[in-house]
Amino acid sequence: MSLVFFQEKCTACGQCLESCPFGVLSLEGEQLVIGDGCTLCGACVEVCPEAALALPEEKRPAPRPGIPPDGIWVFAEQRHGRLAPVSLELLGEARRLAATLQVKVTAVLLGNQVGTLATALLTGGADKVYVAEHPALAEFCEEPFALALTELAQRFQPEIILAGATYVGRAFIPQVAAALKTGLTADCTAFAIDPDKRLLLQTRPAFGGNIMATIITPFTYPQMATARPGVFKMLTPVSNPKGEVIPVNLSSLDSPAHSRFLATVEEIKERVPLAEAEVIVAGGRGLKEPKNFRLLEELAHLLGGAVGASRGAVDAGWIPYAHQIGQTGKTVAPKIYIAIGISGAAQHLVGMQSSDFIVAINKDPNAPIFKVAHIGLVGDALEILPALIQEIKK
Ligand code: FAD
Repeated sequence: MSLVFFQEKCTACGQCLESCPFGVLSLEGEQLVIGDGCTLCGACVEVCPEAALALPEEKRPAPRPGIPPDGIWVFAEQRHGRLAPVSLELLGEARRLAATLQVKVTAVLLGNQVGTLATALLTGGADKVYVAEHPALAEFCEEPFALALTELAQRFQPEIILAGATYVGRAFIPQVAAALKTGLTADCTAFAIDPDKRLLLQTRPAFGGNIMATIITPFTYPQMATARPGVFKMLTPVSNPKGEVIPVNLSSLDSPAHSRFLATVEEIKERVPLAEAEVIVAGGRGLKEPKNFRLLEELAHLLGGAVGASRGAVDAGWIPYAHQIGQTGKTVAPKIYIAIGISGAAQHLVGMQSSDFIVAINKDPNAPIFKVAHIGLVGDALEILPALIQEIKK
């Protein structure tokens, strides 16, 4: 299957060339050339003012159905009866988007004996709260949460669903999007509305954080996105909220599940949470062995900071994932970031390059981390670290 091109309509304006994310279109004189590597993404089809390009018949999506009636939903994440702050942050953002779309904002609360949290969601900006309670939702488990949210979305039909890009959101929201046969943009940092087409414009870093991409879901509903915690602002709580709390029943959880909750294993708590630390001492594969992370912990302790890590160190099993910084880990911006034995891959830099002051220790003078560092020490971390610790102790 290849892109359909109507030569007679083409004016060689070149707009399709710029729109192609894969750079497979070119002009030879006035002649459009479609190179190898076209994924039929349709970006060029949308921008062509002459309709000279089209997707092959089988690839054309069905026309978008009518506008779903139930406005914007925010998944109200809670754990052991405590709301995750990101849920209130998203309610604040949903209110702003709802004003443009002229729709209501609904919080969807899943759990067992969690109904008392509904008031906080109403004061946080929700017009109504669906409360779905079931013993299978008492502890977080992907399957029942995905079944429950999918069932509710099919029943009430929201136009947009927003959720936090937390461990919970990342674990089960993709299953909901797949079950509803719609798109999902993960880890958004900004939202806007195209009021004419009622499209949710979902912006997120892409290509290792080098560009900000705005993604749309033009053919299906609901439009779904997750957003990182701490990006949006909560509203000042509304006093005497007028919204409704609506208990809802679920039938999807009555059948036997493929998975069940066994136990939660708590990781040792960080002394200073990474997101709040003013100093972060982060280690990478250059530390060679897990035991060398003790040196990092000692340095972090002396500086009143927290320990971070590259994915290289996390993948090697030297330190738990909760410490990972970068594109698929946490985003941090401490006053001081000390990167030790970390090469500085784009996916790591995207999570720490807004730090106020960056110190890098690496034995390779050409390591990319030095491009973002304010101070660089070229040498063996296993010699420099103990010396640094001794100096600070003095
Ligand atoms: P390496 O790249 O192996 O670098 C080790 C460094 O240590 C080298 O620069 C070396 O010179 C130095 N070194 C070696 N010995 C010493 C010594 N004795 N003293 C001092 N220096 C020494 N990475 C992340 O960190 N976070 C992410 O969130 C993340 N997400 C990703 C998402 C995707 C989709 C992909 C494809 C990759 C992702 N990565 C992420 C991985 C990233 O591309 C790198 O592979 C990773 O950051 C490398 O980790 P590292 O710097 O510890 O290891």
